[in-house]
Amino acid sequence: MIQHYQQQLAELKAQNQFRQLPQLIHQGRFIQREGKTMLNLSSNDYLGLANHEGLRQAFFAQYQDHLPAFTSSSSRLLTGSFPIYDELETLMAQAFGRESALLFNSGYHANIGILPALADKKTLIVADKLVHASMIDGIRLAQCEFVRFRHNDYAHLEQILQKNDRTFERMIVVTESVFSMDGDCADLNQLVALKQQYPQVMLYVDEAHAIGVLGENGLGLAEQQGCLEQIDILVGTFGKALASMGAYAVCDQVIRDYLINKMRPLIFSTALPPLNVAWTHFLFQQLPHLKAERTHLVSLSQHLRQAIVDIFNVLMPSESCIVPYILGDNALTVKTAQRLQQQGYYCLPIRPPTVPKGTSRIRFSLTADMSFAEVDQLIACLQDFAE
Ligand SMILES: *Cc1c(COP(=O)(O)O)cnc(C)c1O
Repeated sequence: MIQHYQQQLAELKAQNQFRQLPQLIHQGRFIQREGKTMLNLSSNDYLGLANHEGLRQAFFAQYQDHLPAFTSSSSRLLTGSFPIYDELETLMAQAFGRESALLFNSGYHANIGILPALADKKTLIVADKLVHASMIDGIRLAQCEFVRFRHNDYAHLEQILQKNDRTFERMIVVTESVFSMDGDCADLNQLVALKQQYPQVMLYVDEAHAIGVLGENGLGLAEQQGCLEQIDILVGTFGKALASMGAYAVCDQVIRDYLINKMRPLIFSTALPPLNVAWTHFLFQQLPHLKAERTHLVSLSQHLRQAIVDIFNVLMPSESCIVPYILGDNALTVKTAQRLQQQGYYCLPIRPPTVPKGTSRIRFSLTADMSFAEVDQLIACLQDFAE
């Protein structure tokens, strides 16, 4: 029995695809591994809030000795719903200018729960080729018809919608707003325009990498592109820029009610700890005041993207703080990542099947607590490699 699994693991090792949990020690925006301290260029803590001592202290000062509970002890439908949940949902619905919001335990829970709840045999899900694994898993669980459109290719999407227009009662178009491996963005207004031509289309947009980072108030790409009200189901996570844990959807009240009745990961899992939701609530309130962080992150990212193009003359799909350096070759990518780590930069090689064949890359993820000097040092290091 166990030999089967051993063999499978041996194969992974032979293909250089064996995964292990790294042993890391965190020190602010630095990470220590095997005694070596490196700038963490692989974190999703885009606003640099995870290590913000001032915010942490302000949060604890607000509660003093009356900290919210460390557990909800039950699903929200039983006894696990606390007032802080409703407060955060109300705050978010107001901020987004929508009827309602609903919280989930994680982005993964959201994506594997919402799609199966909303889709049935008369539903077609049409997803961007590059959507996150959690949405793919959600689509699999939905057991409905499913087609993918070429990445950000809305002419292809329209062909698919046209072709299936009469066959399905509902079509759910699924995309990310900022894509996690290329750092490029969807054109949400174009998707909204398409949706308006097809009354049976609903838009499902995952803002995991954009919430907190984009938009005047940090509400994401839909805010930046001015279409918050037109996205039927706008999903995001709290585990990235919001330095917490959990996820949300903002949507119409009917959809919220429907999810509460039909969404299995919401119904059958213990709700987030109230302490955690209170922390998210506290940080969400800070979002409008973090413009300086967002602006700094935009300049830092622009600087690194331009430098990579100038030095290596490579493709640069990114428009965000996720900055890929696409080398193509697997072995070269692994070797370059190792060299960067030796130089004090914690960045990781990303290879197929996570990204398409021939596009192996190093994925730099910048955060607002980094300085220009630090990014300049990284650029100097890349320059050395090129020579
Ligand atoms: C990280 C991520 C998720 C998962 O969110 P978690 O809260 O970490 O479970 C979902 N979608 C996208 C696009 C992500 O990048």
